[in-house]
Amino acid sequence: MKHLRTTSLLSLALLFLLGMFAGAPALAVKPAPHQPLPPEAALDLGVLKQAYPGVVLGMEKGASGHLELLLADGTRLVYDDGRTRSVKEAEEAPDVRTMMAQVYPLGPADEASAHPAAHFDPGRRRVQAFFLSLYGHSEAEVRKNCRPVQFDGHKAPFNTRHGAADALERVWVRLAPLAAVHPEWHKVLRPFGGTVEWRNIAATTRLSVHSFGAAVDLNPKLAYWLEERHPEKIPAEVLAFPREIVAAFEAEGFIWGGKWAAFDLMHFEYRPELLLKAKVLRGEAKLPEN
Ligand SMILES: [Zn+2]
Repeated sequence: MKHLRTTSLLSLALLFLLGMFAGAPALAVKPAPHQPLPPEAALDLGVLKQAYPGVVLGMEKGASGHLELLLADGTRLVYDDGRTRSVKEAEEAPDVRTMMAQVYPLGPADEASAHPAAHFDPGRRRVQAFFLSLYGHSEAEVRKNCRPVQFDGHKAPFNTRHGAADALERVWVRLAPLAAVHPEWHKVLRPFGGTVEWRNIAATTRLSVHSFGAAVDLNPKLAYWLEERHPEKIPAEVLAFPREIVAAFEAEGFIWGGKWAAFDLMHFEYRPELLLKAKVLRGEAKLPEN
């Protein structure tokens, strides 16, 4: 009892002192100094927050001493672990910075984008944990998140999360009237390669983005780097590819594998963050303050 009373008295005295100091600005406790993020980290955080609203909460230094990306589901992803990676390491285990580093060459294919530098594959370095958080942690979860989307006569299942299915639907709304007057597109569009398939990327143990229901393949006979015997022919094929098809996908947040050094001409993948980053760097889009 006596102990309690002493504690109460001490608390009162403390409150009194705090009250006095509260009125004296010079003695007020200063907040911890705000440490601005490095510009590249601030840009990547900004585009990720904008592209996936409600998913990405922020970035802060974690227990590892490295900057970490904080996701709403509690996932923490190392943004920049400071390591210099070989190409293989960048593909197999990128940090978020590596995933975002190569800027997608938005717009009609030209001589430059048809001749990408070696290992220039913007979008191909993916932090798998990020995609599991975005779209579902298992095949069953992904399937549950999918809905059929009308695409060239098919009901293609696509992930409804983060606007992916709606975006694919709008791609076909853009393309349908054009496809009707471009019969030569049939060899690009058909047979339809498909969307969702829980599988690894060829010759790797990493999940393909098709696993998440966020990528679409057109005609599987289109050139693919791993099987192509005449890669020297690819720039001409990239330049001849219907520009309207690429433009419709890019307008709705998809990147095209035809712009990768590891070319994959059938492949389009929903990556709104990469398109937004490209636009911000060109001054064609602005991120909100903060
Ligand atoms: Zn694909």
